[in-house]
Amino acid sequence: MQRSTKIVATLGPASSEKAVLRAMVAAGVDVVRMNFSHGLAEDHLARADLVREVSRELGRTVGIMVDLQGPKIRIGKFDGGRITLADGAAFVLDAECGMGDSGRVGLDYRELPNDVRAGDELLLDDGRITLKVQRVEGASIHTLVTHGGELSNNKGINRRGGGLTAPALTAKDMDDIRVAARMKADFLAVSFPKSGSDMYMARELMRAAGGKALLVAKIERTEAVKALEEILEASDAIMVARGDLAVEVGDAAVPALQKRMIRLARERNKLTITATQMMESMISSSVPTRAEVSDVANAVLDGTDAVMLSAETAAGKYPVHTVEAMARVCLEAEKSADLELDREFLNRVFTRVDQSIAMGALFTAFHLKVKCIAALTQSGSTALWMSRVNCGVPIYALTPEIGTRYRLTLFRDVYPLMIQYFGSDREQLLLEAERQLKQHGAVQDGDLIVLTIGEPIGKSGGTNTLKIVRVGEHGD
Ligand code: PGA
Ligand code: MN
Repeated sequence: MQRSTKIVATLGPASSEKAVLRAMVAAGVDVVRMNFSHGLAEDHLARADLVREVSRELGRTVGIMVDLQGPKIRIGKFDGGRITLADGAAFVLDAECGMGDSGRVGLDYRELPNDVRAGDELLLDDGRITLKVQRVEGASIHTLVTHGGELSNNKGINRRGGGLTAPALTAKDMDDIRVAARMKADFLAVSFPKSGSDMYMARELMRAAGGKALLVAKIERTEAVKALEEILEASDAIMVARGDLAVEVGDAAVPALQKRMIRLARERNKLTITATQMMESMISSSVPTRAEVSDVANAVLDGTDAVMLSAETAAGKYPVHTVEAMARVCLEAEKSADLELDREFLNRVFTRVDQSIAMGALFTAFHLKVKCIAALTQSGSTALWMSRVNCGVPIYALTPEIGTRYRLTLFRDVYPLMIQYFGSDREQLLLEAERQLKQHGAVQDGDLIVLTIGEPIGKSGGTNTLKIVRVGEHGD
């Protein structure tokens, strides 16, 4: 059995050594995430080279995702690095404050005092500390500590209910988009988008820089949940970014939102990544908790394309073990995932020829119980459409386009393969496809498979042919 659900792993100090990275990829990482909230562009570029080297050595296709920092609002620094806030104490967030102390701290977003009102609840450090706004005076937000604790330098600020107006792409993000293009990143994750137009702007900058990355909208603000339809329309994928999302909408609302987002994304032919704290305890433990195992399995059952690891692989003690555990849990959960073809199929609307062939292939593959679907594709679109419905048949996407092959690493149920045929003879092309499938152990002589192909050969968006083939028997 092959794993259908993809694994995204964040790189960091714990996974920078080649041997560790190699072991992680061997254990099942499909996409690596470079977190641009930390580190220098040069280090990320060097890491990307290392990832490519490792993936070449192991003969595995590993995608690269650049995750922009975005306009996360943060407090400044404290003299001494940290303070302790007592419940009921007064505390001031002051846009004009230099070094902070136990009574006040600076802000990296000078407009914040204009965005908040008396009565607002502010959450610091992912909600570990909560403040109630008493009043705003000029650049100072006067608050009362409603839930205290230790607070250290540069922790993030959210408002319960959302609504902070910082622009979606900072100057740093714009620079980093150019770095992503230079890196030839396969995916670009945009942090804290509020609307479809935030995503269009990122796409425009990506295109202007010459990049071809698929765009991932991180859904982590209240506004983004409300604008989900238009954000989906403007993006290729969404991330259920549960860390910040839980702070904004309340943690208890997140599980139902996760299900709704994944369902909606699949209906709109978009990809999904479920992220944050999936295997959190494995930062310091060699085995996951029962709750974490359930969480990963439930994301698989919800139909997510990928599950993501953050600090577990970036800064944890057991990066390789964590990937192994995640892979094992996905594989087992997939065995009991519902085959939804007949139920979902009739509701899908499509008018394009290539999409009709993709749907026809899916239907045929499911009912004929074929070994696999082989989609010969330039852009990867046919593989995307096929993978939006769980039909229980693996989809091999054979493409001569190297960029397409890497972007397919995030698609559930899709296995990218290189096909090196550039002629126009259909019979030769099909033979080459069979050879690739056999070489990868996907099929043997005698297996029945469903093939999709575009004629004339080599044109993007041209899939117009569905063929049922018994491997090893040639001729029309
Ligand atoms: P982050 O995004 O890890 O960049 O904050 C994910 C999340 O908020 O869940
Ligand atoms: Mn976040």
